[in-house]
Amino acid sequence: MQISEIYRSIQGESSFAGLPCTFVRLTACNLRCVWCDSEYTFTGGKKMSPEEVETEVERLSAGGLVEFTGGEPMLQERELVPLMERLLARGYTLLLETSGERPLERVPAAVHKIVDVKCPASGEGGTFRESNLPALTQRDEIKFVLAGREDYEFARDFIRAHDLGRKAGGVILSPAFNKNPGTARDASNCSLDPQRLAEWILEDRLEVRLGLQVHKFIWEPATKGV
Ligand code: SF4
Repeated sequence: MQISEIYRSIQGESSFAGLPCTFVRLTACNLRCVWCDSEYTFTGGKKMSPEEVETEVERLSAGGLVEFTGGEPMLQERELVPLMERLLARGYTLLLETSGERPLERVPAAVHKIVDVKCPASGEGGTFRESNLPALTQRDEIKFVLAGREDYEFARDFIRAHDLGRKAGGVILSPAFNKNPGTARDASNCSLDPQRLAEWILEDRLEVRLGLQVHKFIWEPATKGV
């Protein structure tokens, strides 16, 4: 496998936000979202066997929560799926952050999938694979990262058209972060003001979670490996 980093931090972007978590960040992505905060994963990293990844996960965490992220982890699904099956058998709770563009039917059912639907301002709108919708369960969460009103309206209409509130365990609307954030650990780095997003959600009576990237309020937003 090609791995950018394995580290221990606080989960930041789902209903698991705030919990200690071991992150396995896989190298490479086939998308290029304009606000991507992990471009350093597009190349480089180091080769590790799935057994070496498992050993490092065990060394850092000895049980608990593990998240596979990237880049796009499902580009390495041939090695990733058996690794996830082994970690599940050892009692880990697994999260998989994925762009929604790759097929997800081979992901073990016990994994909590956090699946993006890319919005227009990401530059990758239209990449969500609608054939992934039947693979969603109540364990899973669908996430929209929003840079402004156009993205919000896209997300709102998509949620309603596909009845996402019933297909997945949760729907998250999250403000995008500025491409080059300042050092402030506050909402001034959000491309969309969270207060405005909250008002829109309440006005439209959406049953969704307003997601803030918790780690960017704990550490400086540009910090890597957190
Ligand atoms: S899918 Fe994720 S890793 Fe890939 S470009 Fe978009 S934000 Fe970056």
